[in-house]
Amino acid sequence: MFIDSHCHLDFPVFDALADLITQSQAAGIDAFLVPGTTSESWAGVLALQHEYSAIKVALGLHPYFLQSYQASDLQQLASLLAQYTVVAVGEIGLDKWPNLPDYQLQQEVFVAQLAIATEQALPVILHARKSEDDLLKLLRQSRFTHGGIVHAFNGSLEQAKRFLDLGFVLGIGGTVTYPRAQKARRVLQALSDSDYVLETDSPDMPVCGYQGQANSPLRILDIAHTVSELRQQSVLEIAHHTSANLQRVLPNWHKVKN
Ligand SMILES: [Zn+2]
Repeated sequence: MFIDSHCHLDFPVFDALADLITQSQAAGIDAFLVPGTTSESWAGVLALQHEYSAIKVALGLHPYFLQSYQASDLQQLASLLAQYTVVAVGEIGLDKWPNLPDYQLQQEVFVAQLAIATEQALPVILHARKSEDDLLKLLRQSRFTHGGIVHAFNGSLEQAKRFLDLGFVLGIGGTVTYPRAQKARRVLQALSDSDYVLETDSPDMPVCGYQGQANSPLRILDIAHTVSELRQQSVLEIAHHTSANLQRVLPNWHKVKN
């Protein structure tokens, strides 16, 4: 069985969600981790976890969407985490996309959410875009020890090892399905079986061959197929390792009650 460790099933494009879950489970994708993005998203994300036993969620403030950020969001996050069992704080992180506002604010909100995760003894789901070294620095400065997942990891092998040393696993998604993604493919080939999980980032990050359409958790199978070729392992072995890895870094995975 496969788990999609990162998909935004709360986004409006997934209006036929019950059907998609049935279809995914029939294809061997049994469970889904849906991270929050803004404070406005949290109620909907929690509702999905309540409604579907296959969905586990994380709550957090995504660095890309801080335009609507208010300081009270952090208090609200802390109080929701005290009230509801979720698997992680996320997705949180740093995004150096050109023209995104205020990298200083991103760092402050990230560090504040690391403190909240520490308070709740929760792992985190990290969003990194050209910011891996900054994230590693802030994780160390914050003495964060609960690990988690570096979603859509696209850094170097050296950076991968530093995240692994801090108790993280790496999210492997559609990028490796593109033959031109030489660096990401080499990193994947150098990892141990215990180092990574699979994700689609649906509806974003299209898999090679499916550009121009909304991405879907069903594409986990295409990603697993590529991983199987690159690592010279069976798809079944990959399903086994990645599902075990996810449940290892997210200790609440089986504690969530619907
Ligand atoms: Zn995401």
